[in-house]
Amino acid sequence: MSFDLSSRLAERQAAHLYRRRPLLDAPQDVRVRVDGENFLAFCNNDYLGLANHPEVVEAFAQGARRWGVGGGASHLVVGHSTPHHELEEALAEFTGRPRALLLSSGYMANLGTVTALVGQGDTVLEDRLNHASLLDAGLLSGARFSRYLHNDPVSLAARLGKAVGNTLVVTDGVFSMDGDLANLPELCAQARTRGAWVMVDDAHGFGCLGEQGGGIVEHFGLGLDDVPVLVGTLGKAFGTAGAFVAGSEELIETLIQFARPYIYTTSQPPAVACATLKSLQLLRDEQWRRHHLQRLIERFRAGAAELGLRLMDSPTPIQPILIGSSARALALSAALRQRGLLVTAIRPPTVPKGTARLRVTLSAAHSESDVEQLLEAFKSALADIPEDFGAAKKQSKHELSDE
Ligand SMILES: *Cc1c(COP(=O)(O)O)cnc(C)c1O
Repeated sequence: MSFDLSSRLAERQAAHLYRRRPLLDAPQDVRVRVDGENFLAFCNNDYLGLANHPEVVEAFAQGARRWGVGGGASHLVVGHSTPHHELEEALAEFTGRPRALLLSSGYMANLGTVTALVGQGDTVLEDRLNHASLLDAGLLSGARFSRYLHNDPVSLAARLGKAVGNTLVVTDGVFSMDGDLANLPELCAQARTRGAWVMVDDAHGFGCLGEQGGGIVEHFGLGLDDVPVLVGTLGKAFGTAGAFVAGSEELIETLIQFARPYIYTTSQPPAVACATLKSLQLLRDEQWRRHHLQRLIERFRAGAAELGLRLMDSPTPIQPILIGSSARALALSAALRQRGLLVTAIRPPTVPKGTARLRVTLSAAHSESDVEQLLEAFKSALADIPEDFGAAKKQSKHELSDE
């Protein structure tokens, strides 16, 4: 017997890093039933409140009646149906790019795109805080892989100087655990002077940033020449599922030919594409969702600063509160839970050691009074869990439950 899984699991538990899955017994919303209790939640990525929107649900139901359920085959065989195609055309138009390609998840979009564009003899440079799917993609590609300091054009420039072959610079648009924006104008300028391409994964920017919800490239006014490879995911602000890559005609054709996570998988159910077409329309037409969300972000930040919470440099609905120790982050999350609020503690290895945090996410489905309730709960939870909580608890780890 060689697989000692039980001690691996026990070690993880002892380090306060054990993960459990909360069981959601309700549609995705800010008011949810989880593990048999009702909560006001600040942890989903449904930033515009579209995941359970009646019109999106109806588009999905109608789509299923018209197109059935299963995609039935991969896109290259006979799984590429009219709703998929219409959605690609709508996404190309929305992003102002010549073409877009629909994939079944953001993870696959990232894996497929990076591995199709670079390989042995090439270079991929990534922000060290990039999403796991981008880091995995870089490793899998077989290209020389190096991570530059977070959002640092100087650190990027040093690596660009040593790059060989085709060079792809890869960054999150909005960093998923910090909420801050990639410094794209400077990063793109560095890449261009070296003839490198920039790939931006704007999973958390689409729908939230930019006048029309066009994400970080709209926010900074960057075109195809600055960002030749633009990735968006549909499971966040769009409230549905899947992902897309937008770019030139040649880029999209290259992905259709060579992106293995695109080729060797069944197409997403066409009804999901029908739902996304509706959510794209709502995202564009109902600007109030984005404006309301912005007001909630400002209110939360002002209130959290008053309480002395350590905010991060984030203008987005991702508003992490930096705690430091995993034990204290878990204890605060548990204290909020006792008060009827769901806020996730994010721990290593998802974030660097010593930077455990409570990741608050806001949604247009929250009201101002929901945010007030969260701030009140923080105030009383902080009074229960002192600053030195993690240190004091080290000898008695068994008292702590993991969530
Ligand atoms: C969520 C996320 C993904 C993965 O997208 P899925 O569609 O959920 O697989 C990729 N990149 C970033 C930055 C994300 O936040």
